Amino acid sequence: MRFVVVGGGLTGLTAAWEWRQTHPDDEVVVLEAAARPGGKLDRVELAGQWYDTGPEAVLARVPEALDLVRELGLGDQLVAPRTTQAAVVLPEGSFPLPAGTVLGVPTSAAGLDGVLTPAGVARVAAEADLPPLRVDGDVAVGRLLRERLGDEVVDRLVEPLLGGVYAGRADELSLAATMPGLFAQLRRCSSVLAAATAARDAGARSRGDDDGPVFMTVAPGIGSLPDVLARAGGAEVRLGTRAERLRRTPAGFDVQLAGGEVLAADAVLLATPAGPTARLLAGVAPDAVQPLAGIPYASMAVVAMAFPAQPLPAGSGLLVPPVTGRLVKGVTVSSAKWPHLSAGGVVRVRSSVGRFGDDDALHRDDAELTAAVVADVAELLQLERPEPLDTRLVRWDDGLPQYLVGHPGRVAAVRSAVAAVPGLGVAGAAYEGVGVPACIRDARRAVAGLA
Ligand SMILES: Cc1cc2nc3c(=O)[nH]c(=O)nc-3n(C[C@H](O)[C@H](O)[C@H](O)COP(=O)(O)OP(=O)(O)OC[C@H]3O[C@@H](n4cnc5c(N)ncnc54)[C@H](O)[C@@H]3O)c2cc1C
Repeated sequence: MRFVVVGGGLTGLTAAWEWRQTHPDDEVVVLEAAARPGGKLDRVELAGQWYDTGPEAVLARVPEALDLVRELGLGDQLVAPRTTQAAVVLPEGSFPLPAGTVLGVPTSAAGLDGVLTPAGVARVAAEADLPPLRVDGDVAVGRLLRERLGDEVVDRLVEPLLGGVYAGRADELSLAATMPGLFAQLRRCSSVLAAATAARDAGARSRGDDDGPVFMTVAPGIGSLPDVLARAGGAEVRLGTRAERLRRTPAGFDVQLAGGEVLAADAVLLATPAGPTARLLAGVAPDAVQPLAGIPYASMAVVAMAFPAQPLPAGSGLLVPPVTGRLVKGVTVSSAKWPHLSAGGVVRVRSSVGRFGDDDALHRDDAELTAAVVADVAELLQLERPEPLDTRLVRWDDGLPQYLVGHPGRVAAVRSAVAAVPGLGVAGAAYEGVGVPACIRDARRAVAGLA
């Protein structure tokens, strides 16, 4: 039996690994268009140390990522952050991100002074005077929250957090897809504040007495996992190999590669972003094409910087919402956040640029963009020694899928069109979670379905 995985990002490599674990006698081939495995997982050497330029932290309150790291024998490389207290940069200055929100959605008006103006806090408290909430179907996060809690909650709290996770905009992102826990409670509660409280409490209950770190990383970088996965999986990983067309045959599938070679497969998993997945499905599951076209991507760039040892503001970094008019949308002070990245006192920082629908800044050339980001970061962190020792710029064109309003319906349509074709599967960041654990979960779900 030959299982072909198209796309050698985290999802595809995990699926290949999982298949080999459960079917050690099968042939597993991973086709990866790029010259290296890993997709959005990547690392660079920055001032003599490995440094992530894709994901830099994984959610530790769900098991998938930590389990995979341990299964790969890297459990002793897991590192907990020293601090995760971030601040929000606003036109009036920086304010610590209030504790206890649900992706920025507050549970009450308490603790919001400073990050919201007095009028903004009063607007949150006034939700109690609004008619009872009714949420019948999916809605944009921004639309519901502006109506119920006012613009400031969206512009100053929710937007910076969603900007960090999706590089997206609260006014376009789906509430059902990006905040499923809150969405479920909104259908039962009469106010957003009550629903956010219920979602927060449900999360706490499901964690039980686990008071461990919310996020973790691995010392050699999350970008080290693709090579380990590719080697440990025992699959044949063919780099620089683009799949161009998929065709059904009486025995299974033919996968046509760029250059003309055709590879026969008994089962195929497409672990590619929505665009290439739609092109590959056109001939075998045409009903999936239209819904996939409704999943656009945001492009961004990450600049990694090393500065000489110097005093820094407290905390793990800054969230920088569009209301500030600044170039960067966030700054992670990695040397403060992660103990293993502070060796030698060097200050290691990363910052990202680019949001969905706003990629003008990305048209600058590498040198110009790097210099502009370094200047913005130096000002935001008030660096006394702003001359970098080292910098790296990594561009992520079509880096993060956008879960726009109606996303769950699109995913259901894609899944149902694909399920009608025996031996075919899709998985990855485009569907039910962009984070590392969600991609691992989706890979495992797809393999269980196909097997
Ligand atoms: C800058 C950035 C920071 C992030 N930070 C975090 C974080 O801190 N924590 C977190 O949990 N998540 C984070 N994420 C999200 C997470 O990294 C990604 O969602 C996840 O890695 C996506 O994995 P994937 O395998 O589904 O897709 P991808 O990584 O996109 O892999 C798909 C692969 O398919 C290949 N491909 C495409 N077309 C073809 C074809 N026709 N034939 C063969 N191969 C093809 C591509 O080259 C690519 O390698 C971040 C993402 C980005 C971009």
